[in-house]
Amino acid sequence: MNPFYNPVFLGKILKRYLVDVDRLDRINEESLHRFQDTRLRKLVRFADTVPLYHEKFQTAGVSPSDIKGIDDLHRLPCVTKEDLKRHYPEGIISRRVRKDSLIEVSTSGTTGKVLPLYVDLLDIVMGLFAYMRTLHEYDLNIWNDRITIIGDFAPHTAESGYVTRGVQPRFNLTGLFKNVQWLNTNDDPKKVIAAINEFQPVFIGGYVGMLGHLALLKETGFGDNISPRYIAATGSVLDSFLKSYIEKTFQTKVFEVYGATESGLIGFQCKQGSYHLMSDLVYAEFYKNGTPIESDDAGEMILTKFHGSGTPILRYNAINDIVAPLQGSCSCGKAGSLIKKVYGRNDLALYRSDGTVLLPSTFSEIYSKLLYELRTNKVRNTKIIQHDFSNLEIQVVIDDTLRASSPSDEEIYGFLRKGFQGKMGSDVTVTIKEVSSVDTSQGPRIVSLIDKKNYTIKRYM
Ligand SMILES: [Zn+2]
Repeated sequence: MNPFYNPVFLGKILKRYLVDVDRLDRINEESLHRFQDTRLRKLVRFADTVPLYHEKFQTAGVSPSDIKGIDDLHRLPCVTKEDLKRHYPEGIISRRVRKDSLIEVSTSGTTGKVLPLYVDLLDIVMGLFAYMRTLHEYDLNIWNDRITIIGDFAPHTAESGYVTRGVQPRFNLTGLFKNVQWLNTNDDPKKVIAAINEFQPVFIGGYVGMLGHLALLKETGFGDNISPRYIAATGSVLDSFLKSYIEKTFQTKVFEVYGATESGLIGFQCKQGSYHLMSDLVYAEFYKNGTPIESDDAGEMILTKFHGSGTPILRYNAINDIVAPLQGSCSCGKAGSLIKKVYGRNDLALYRSDGTVLLPSTFSEIYSKLLYELRTNKVRNTKIIQHDFSNLEIQVVIDDTLRASSPSDEEIYGFLRKGFQGKMGSDVTVTIKEVSSVDTSQGPRIVSLIDKKNYTIKRYM
């Protein structure tokens, strides 16, 4: 029998939900640490049954029994994207788990680096629960409140894996999820706003880019019936200007939810505005130039995911986000770690000759200003290529159907040029090129040809 259909398994999941969803509000730091230690020991034993990890442990000379808890985590080797790719498919799953009981998902194709990995039903359910946790924080729940989720339902994504290939076909959840509207962020924003207007949700969760488009549409007279109590933004960095623009337009409060394909949800903002990690589901370490960093400083995040029997995520170093941790605790009383800021992906960075690295959090401001200052969504897509320290090329795809509308293409180009020069320095030449589409097969939408091996990072911006 397929374990997914097993009623005992379903019972286990239900129990897990009841126990897990508000855990961070209930337990103290000490019991959370004990819980993390137990989960880690279990994870390491499980990872040892996965060829990739077994091999890595042996090479590093560590045995699962050496790892007593989080304090020993640093003894384990880090796992890279290349490690996972090299051992795919059989080497990244446990010998004890049947492959047909798992679901294959992959990280976003838009960055050009597709990474396939496996999740199990527990991952999927925990993903939903983590989302429920954030809803609970805002006194919402999927049983009573109308919830709209605008996910990335391109065929390969984790969300498709979770929803269309994972949850829906395996359980008949239409009854359970009758208050949930699933929309696709790859659809035309006008189509999306019409569907939301019809559904009238009290909560909308979506990607930053799509939410920006929706705000602009709302401002120009679409979606009269849309007045959610809360909007959750995810997927990329939300700058404060765009955040207040969305809040003003929808007369609502926006909070951030942070996750990754490999790990599921990582963190969320509480009502007080603090960014909490889901410390019972994941454990994050932060390093800069190989050394653990202090509070407030920004560094690369290394992530461990506690749950699931798919591909283990144990000291995984390729979420590729630069994140600043924050010591201390929040007045809301939740247990676990805090983060100060998510700067964005370090493989989507631009490098200045003075040692300053510009991360997506910096230039997303330029794009969001197109929305809230120029009031335009004519720019369909862009690709940024940094040829050297003094030459930046911006490829722009203009929406043909909006070609005649104002502002003019030249105004938009001028705006982009000024924006990037403001961040990169006035001595940098910014060339704008209109293209019919951007080629992301050769790499992500932000490509820097600067030699990173000989570049010393002084600070992140
Ligand atoms: Zn809090």
